[in-house]
Amino acid sequence: MSKKKNIILLGATGSIGESSLRLLRKNREKFNLVGVSAHNNAGLLSKIVNEFDVPNVVLSNHKNTKSYYGKNDLNVGHSSLIELAKINCDIVISGIIGMSGLYPAYSAISVGNNLAIANKETLVSAGKIFMEKSLEKKVKILPVDSEHSAIFQCLEKNNISNVDFITLTASGGPFLNMPIENFKNIKPRDAIKHPVWKMGQKISVDSATMFNKALEIIEASVLFNIKSDKIEVTVHPEHIIHGLVHYKDGSIIANLGFPDMITPLSVALNWPTRIDLNLKKLSLNNISNLSFFEPDFKKFPGLKLGWDVLDNPNFSPVVLNASNEIAVDAFLNNKIRFPDIYNIVYETLNVCNPSVPQNIGDIIEIDKIARMNALKLVKRIFYK
Ligand code: NDP
Ligand code: MG
Repeated sequence: MSKKKNIILLGATGSIGESSLRLLRKNREKFNLVGVSAHNNAGLLSKIVNEFDVPNVVLSNHKNTKSYYGKNDLNVGHSSLIELAKINCDIVISGIIGMSGLYPAYSAISVGNNLAIANKETLVSAGKIFMEKSLEKKVKILPVDSEHSAIFQCLEKNNISNVDFITLTASGGPFLNMPIENFKNIKPRDAIKHPVWKMGQKISVDSATMFNKALEIIEASVLFNIKSDKIEVTVHPEHIIHGLVHYKDGSIIANLGFPDMITPLSVALNWPTRIDLNLKKLSLNNISNLSFFEPDFKKFPGLKLGWDVLDNPNFSPVVLNASNEIAVDAFLNNKIRFPDIYNIVYETLNVCNPSVPQNIGDIIEIDKIARMNALKLVKRIFYK
């Protein structure tokens, strides 16, 4: 029997965390959970620690430590989170939300740990630096985002030079069929109800604006070293097909499956082998309809920014991501309306035109300035 893999799970209390734990729970003979982190949810963190007897535990926020009742010692703060990611292991899973995942993920690969990454904001902002570091350290960066896992699997051993283009599918989010006139009345509680996936609040809002797909276009260009004009997006509300690779010889390889993050997580953790997850079987005979159509850029202008940021040297992916994080947070806190998210991102992209970052320090600096600018725009709308 092969040796158990040691896994560190960052963001164990979130939606990706929950899917990861389902996978580990089903396969205790294959994986050891040697480290976990949460930010606020000390109660759930304690439960996880006690269930899996996890030796290394971090709560990255200093508040709430009193609610921790796990049987193993608790380490607290962002620097502890970074130290956790550096512990020698087989794979670090990053299920942290937003740019808070940057340093932990970068630290993981810098010490030679393989990284299974769901945290797309980090790849969007610092992808090139991550890919270079992974080559230097000879570590794997394994995509967890379902569309990127799909492309990764469809590519397998094929060389990217044989590829004509790729297709990322999009469910279209909860407002796919809502008339654009009603967008200004959308409430946070409606935006976080995703029709297909059960996810954290931030990515649910990103799916509703389709900024999620814009981030994924950039994420794909980084992970697969592919140009913007080779990335197509198609709306596919059933979300059974997750991605397609169109080869130059006319052959197209698609990846299908029920929408459940346990599968891309299993692909990442077991690659290049596969394990039996004993899931509900998908038969095309039972699927009456799979639909596909072009995205509506009038309703979802944020989507187009994915390509624009790759094509326009004045636009920075770091700025796109940072301003979107600020705008989504403001929307969730009822400070701005749903269509303002795009307006804030677009205006910040036009105001902040940094030079190309050379290292993580540059990324942090650009991110900070973009956030300040986006916040100014939020305040202008909020206090109007
Ligand atoms: P959630 O909001 O459900 O979970 C976020 C996790 O990160 C929680 O464990 C949370 O801890 C922790 N966290 C929050 N803030 C911080 C911080 N400042 N520092 C350190 N840790 C923090 O998000 P999701 O699981 O939905 O998404 C996680 C990432 O995966 C995102 O980047 C998302 O885009 C990506 N992704 C998610 C998918 C999904 O199906 N959910 C699919 C594809 C990609 P606590 O609970 O204690 O606050
Ligand atoms: Mg996705």
